[in-house]
Amino acid sequence: MADVLVVVDHVEGSVRKPTLELLTVARRLGTPVAVALGAGAGQTAEVLAGHGASRILVSEASEFADFLVVPKVDAVQRAVELVDPVAVLFVSSGENKEIAARLALRLESGVITDAVDVEAGEDGRPVAVQSAFAASYTTRSRVTRGIPVITVKPNSAPVEPVEGAGAVEELAVDFAAGVRGARVVSRSARESTGRPELTEAAIVVSGGRGLGSGENFALIEALADALGGAVGASRAAVDAGWYPHAHQVGQTGKSVSPQLYIASGISGAIQHRAGMQTSKTIVAINKDAEAPIFDLVDYGVVGDLHTVVPQLTEEVAARKG
Ligand code: FAD
Repeated sequence: MADVLVVVDHVEGSVRKPTLELLTVARRLGTPVAVALGAGAGQTAEVLAGHGASRILVSEASEFADFLVVPKVDAVQRAVELVDPVAVLFVSSGENKEIAARLALRLESGVITDAVDVEAGEDGRPVAVQSAFAASYTTRSRVTRGIPVITVKPNSAPVEPVEGAGAVEELAVDFAAGVRGARVVSRSARESTGRPELTEAAIVVSGGRGLGSGENFALIEALADALGGAVGASRAAVDAGWYPHAHQVGQTGKSVSPQLYIASGISGAIQHRAGMQTSKTIVAINKDAEAPIFDLVDYGVVGDLHTVVPQLTEEVAARKG
């Protein structure tokens, strides 16, 4: 079986759930080989092996923290040279898409971003599945030259633990001379809300202009907390200063693909849909029965969100109770 290179997302050795999903995708294509970079990378091995990684290539070089993405491109390129994989898979994120694009350029191959699945084609080469235009179309595409580089959205596959013991190998990287051109001088952590990260959350509850004020986002937060979900916002709500831009969902915000997306007081403009159309189940609460969001939903509630959202929160809390 051909090897498939999986680039690991982790926080100081704690592997993020989308990487485990990516290992499920990789196992359908061949034998996963993981590459983990940065502080704590060595601690990821057991979890990665327990989800199918046959080898774990590790580098904890300080360059990954001190500089922007180029050292990671150098390292993944080195891993590609060692493994000669049938594909390189990343979790879709802003940083990973930059690394993926730079890597594909160096490999003289091609990059496909935001896949919702990757299948083995008839010749065994990977075929990326993407969802377009509010999930009206599914496209299947392949990189026709060189080693395909593909980014896959979180929540695209289940996490499937397996029996296994992957071998850990030190990855020796020669960093390109240009790496030191720009140095990270400080990092500041965003204040933690205790909620899951928006792009990784299994449940997202979003609010729009229909909320009427920033204070009313408390209704959205309460429902998100009852469900254990993340909070999203439309651009209209963000532009009004009601919620931070980091929570914006859509074309110029983040792309989410949760199991459940609840849109409250959001009309369903095409630019908003672009960021949430691949959600598995979509629920909308809107007082206008003609709102375009209802063309997209699995369940729609026509009503005033100020009444419906607290009722829903109460019901969820009671059932959990
Ligand atoms: P509105 O369109 O004003 O809709 C508000 C909805 O709330 C209405 O449907 C109304 O019926 C309902 N409502 C009002 N009161 C209540 C109530 N009490 N109870 C229940 N329902 C109620 N938008 C994004 O979201 N993300 C993006 O990334 C994004 N990028 C863009 C990029 C470009 C280049 C452009 C041009 C636009 C972009 N937009 C984006 C903006 C987009 O076109 C819409 O303007 C925006 O999504 C509208 O936000 P909204 O649905 O919250 O507001």
